Amino acid sequence: MAFREGSRAWKRIFWQLILLALGGLGLLRFGLPVLRHLEVLIPMGVCPPARTPLLRDNFTGPLHPRARPEVLTCTSWGAPIIWDGTFDPDVAQKEAVRQNLTVGLTVFAVGRYLEKYLERFLETAEQHFMVGQHVVYYVFTERPAAVPSLPLGPGRRLRVERVARERRWQDVSMARMRALHAALGGRLGREARFVLCMDVDQHFSGAFGPEALAESVAQLHAWHYRWPRRLLPFERDARSAAALGPGEGDFYYHAAVFGGSVAALRRLTAHCARGLRRDRARGLEARWHDESHLNKFFWLHKPAKLLSPEFCWSPDIGRRAEIRRPRLLWEPKEYALLRG
Ligand code: UDP
Ligand code: MN
Repeated sequence: MAFREGSRAWKRIFWQLILLALGGLGLLRFGLPVLRHLEVLIPMGVCPPARTPLLRDNFTGPLHPRARPEVLTCTSWGAPIIWDGTFDPDVAQKEAVRQNLTVGLTVFAVGRYLEKYLERFLETAEQHFMVGQHVVYYVFTERPAAVPSLPLGPGRRLRVERVARERRWQDVSMARMRALHAALGGRLGREARFVLCMDVDQHFSGAFGPEALAESVAQLHAWHYRWPRRLLPFERDARSAAALGPGEGDFYYHAAVFGGSVAALRRLTAHCARGLRRDRARGLEARWHDESHLNKFFWLHKPAKLLSPEFCWSPDIGRRAEIRRPRLLWEPKEYALLRG
């Protein structure tokens, strides 16, 4: 009898363990996306009213940080965070025309990334990127002949720069800083007044205009903009040039979009290329490669303007009320195909 009771108890525990395991798997598979939506309950902070009259720049004129009370619209150092509704796109447009700007847009398409992404990136840029301004695209690739020829709008040009093909995808990504630095010191630097540097695995889905321009511009990362600072995925290995100590780091910036004046970008790319070189000499590679070094740079040299995640959104996160009009959307990542 005692034996039967005992075996029944074991059976119960057995089934409870099975259920717990299934529940755990279910949460992992289906529950975590739900948890991501709870993220919007983490407070972002508000831009103090005393700071709002100071928020203006060359392009947007006066900003309206209080038009978006549900999100953070400025930083502690007084840089605006550009959200839909906080700026007047017409003012930005007119001001950029008045200044007769040429805006550079750089993109790397090396290996399979070229066939997979470049055409759509450029086609949608023609529809949405700095429409009405002078634009010069710089495509960096190891196969210039494979760059699709596209009809370009008036005042828009495309130039192709040859780069070596690195073997590892991490090296392709990291080699960008050095190549950009060289290009900014050459023709690109002479042709453009401001430059935006972007990943190719995304496409434009809404107007991306001069409101995004400033002396230096950083992009809030769609997956991390509401996370507590100490959980952000900065490089923490103190031996790396990209390391941020405990309590350091303002926001986690996405390397898929950064920009600024030619001079500011020369400094940024020099800093990152130097850090990458130092790490390599010591046999190190920062957690998120060039992005880790970019984050270190922007911690040391605060960006003059931040772009909200509306400017570079990941559709995998799903819909969010605060993401009104995404301007760039990430393409699906097909790493097995692209990086194999
Ligand atoms: N890239 C490329 N070929 C490669 C690897 C990277 O052209 O083999 C370029 C491309 O512009 C890409 C960027 O480097 O968008 C960054 O790499 P990826 O987008 O794969 O990094 P992730 O966005 O996943 O961090
Ligand atoms: Mn990317």
